[in-house]
Amino acid sequence: MSIGTERYPHLFAPLDLGFTRLKNRALMGSMHTGLEEADNGFERMAAFFAERARGGVGMIITGGISPNEEGGFGAKLSTPEEAARHRIITEAVHAADADTKICMQILHTGPLAARENCVAPSPVKSRIGRYRPNELTEEGIEKQIADFANCAAMARLAGYDGVEIIGSAGYLISTFLVRKTNLRTDRWGGSWENRMRFPVEVVRRVRAAVGPDFILVFRISAMDMLEEGLAWDEVLSLAKALEAEGVNIISTHFCWHEAPVPTIATMVPRAAFTQVTGRLRKHLKVPMITSNRINMPEVAEEVLARGDADIVSMARPMLADPELVLKAAQGREDEINTCIACNQACLDHTFSGRQQVSCLVNPRACNETLLKYEPVAARRRIAVVGAGPAGLAYATVAAQRGHAVTLFDAANEIGGQFNLAKLIPGKEEFHETLRYYRTMIGKLGIECRLGARVDVATIEAGGFDEVIVATGIEPRRPAIEGIDHPKAVGYVDVILGRKPVGRRVAIMGAGGIGFDVAELISHEGVSASLDIGIFAKEWGIDFENHPRGGVTGVTPQVARADRTVYLMQRKTDPVGKNLGRTTGWTHRLTLARRGVQMINGVEYVKIDDAGLHTLVNGEPKLFEVDTVIVCAGQLPLRTLHDELEAAGRRSTLVGGAFEAAELDAKRAIDQASRLAATV
Ligand code: FAD
Ligand code: NAP
Ligand code: SF4
Repeated sequence: MSIGTERYPHLFAPLDLGFTRLKNRALMGSMHTGLEEADNGFERMAAFFAERARGGVGMIITGGISPNEEGGFGAKLSTPEEAARHRIITEAVHAADADTKICMQILHTGPLAARENCVAPSPVKSRIGRYRPNELTEEGIEKQIADFANCAAMARLAGYDGVEIIGSAGYLISTFLVRKTNLRTDRWGGSWENRMRFPVEVVRRVRAAVGPDFILVFRISAMDMLEEGLAWDEVLSLAKALEAEGVNIISTHFCWHEAPVPTIATMVPRAAFTQVTGRLRKHLKVPMITSNRINMPEVAEEVLARGDADIVSMARPMLADPELVLKAAQGREDEINTCIACNQACLDHTFSGRQQVSCLVNPRACNETLLKYEPVAARRRIAVVGAGPAGLAYATVAAQRGHAVTLFDAANEIGGQFNLAKLIPGKEEFHETLRYYRTMIGKLGIECRLGARVDVATIEAGGFDEVIVATGIEPRRPAIEGIDHPKAVGYVDVILGRKPVGRRVAIMGAGGIGFDVAELISHEGVSASLDIGIFAKEWGIDFENHPRGGVTGVTPQVARADRTVYLMQRKTDPVGKNLGRTTGWTHRLTLARRGVQMINGVEYVKIDDAGLHTLVNGEPKLFEVDTVIVCAGQLPLRTLHDELEAAGRRSTLVGGAFEAAELDAKRAIDQASRLAATV
């Protein structure tokens, strides 16, 4: 028995589907990466998926491909010519590992398609859609069903092992199911039997088109998080009807994109939703997939062992580490680069539509053909000063390529500002990134000198060929009258608990750190991200009784600290406007529910015994606070770089030391990894 099957017996058990077999229970869930529409996108997707196949995953679901023009925002599959383009993907995956299955997701976005002629059962515009959809006629409905069947047949022609039909999230199929988006009175609307006719008919026709020996997965909204969404008995009857039509696997999805409940962000507890799949699974014979915030093998094993599902889907964790499954199989779990659920380089990029999807902790994700960490011919001695995200990324990539790396940090632990981030409630996953780097420092033989503030003499004595200055930032102290008053404290002292915080608090600066500090000081009790019960209460989810959508009639109950908090900025933009596209709203909503007052257009005048004197939109206003927490951005810390330059020694700046404005860990790790790939 291998280490993997001993430690994770459920995860590494094969699954017999009758005509075929999955080698394990680990699935790479579907993610639209943008490669579907990019130049050389099919070559890049082939490399991306093949790397994950080599990494041990049992089955892969591709990003969504539309069955027709009206259903998509990009890639479509409806002709044999288009099918031929997909062959490079299916062949690459099967060549990487003949036992890995790859299914193509058929995604008809319905009212969420970014095109004027988008279609839906009724002309109901989605809160997040761009256009009001055209109502489908009877013939139009027939055409959509025929297009699904044709697309599945083309997927088979392209060499896929199966298809996944997405019937959730606010896309076309799910809009037939829910009353508020299906106002029809013909045989496709009205009663539940009529509303579920469309998905059942799609499955029947797809099965007829592909034959019995082709994997057919259907993704169902098991809890859509919509007021007046699907009732439990509707979910159950749909699942049973799909089973009767011959789907091989039912996958559970939680949440429509427009629902105001976070289901995958970092503040969501691990495996928070799998219990819903578990309840459904008791009533069905067909194998079931569960998902959401399953990011480590032990979590996957627990979910399977509990009987919540037959297969676990891990999507973003496969961006973060293509070898997650292989590492679990070989007992190298401590080497897993864990997805921290930040969404910063994946979903935020998808939804902004401007940047290629990748991963904050792994910039190679979706860039496999462009960013390569190749072995070096000549080994160089490299000093990396600063063990924050930039220094850690540089050191590990350079050492992996074969360089001799010495990593210095003035602090007694690696991590830089991640040691502050990990203390914010809801950001506990940041510990995992530090565990990953700690492990890799040991395994790659990097000499790590902690508690070592580096100066020119240290560098001169070391005889290094290259010096990388990753010394990060220093917090900005704005030149305001009274900035040295005892009431004014820096965010570092607050987060580390080195300075007390009063009952009435002004936070000066509402960037990412201002929001995190507001979260920290307004929060009370156990972090919701660590307790599914508290999380459910905070977001108004009733897992036990499953009212319509899981949320209908449930009022969110937020625990809050006994404190008055003002979160301020000078800009007149809405506060929090620049936070992450897919997560910013959760932070704004949480703080608003805790009574944090967000104020823009503030000019800071002075701090004194009375509090913080300001002009708000030009009007004088005194905030009678006990504490003013300064979160006013950062400046690059380049002392070492400047001293080396003065001594005639060349060095390379990375991360915050290179540029502090708009710095985040995504940019720090990406820049450092790219530089280390070429040294
Ligand atoms: P740093 O992390 O600042 O590391 C620099 C290191 O250099 C430090 O460890 C320091 O001790 C060391 N050093 C300095 N001078 C010397 C010297 N002379 N000799 C030896 N060592 C030296 N980013 C995100 O992307 N997402 C988030 O959710 C997020 N949350 C955050 C939450 C908080 C509370 C904070 C404070 C930051 C957060 N960030 C987040 C920002 C992110 O942590 C930084 O962008 C990132 O740490 C910058 O990396 P760096 O390596 O350039 O610098
Ligand atoms: P930031 O996002 O740039 O915000 C700095 C804040 O300080 C802004 O509100 C700014 O707004 C204010 N400010 C700037 N200069 C000022 C001055 N002279 N006087 C008073 N106020 C001033 O920086 P940060 O909050 O320090 O965060 C650092 C980086 O970490 C960010 O770039 C962020 O991306 C990253 N981070 C990310 C997350 C995340 O969840 N993704 C969380 C934490 C941190 P005004 O100029 O309008 O006042
Ligand atoms: Fe996970 Fe963040 Fe990477 Fe996305 S960017 S895969 S959420 S670690």
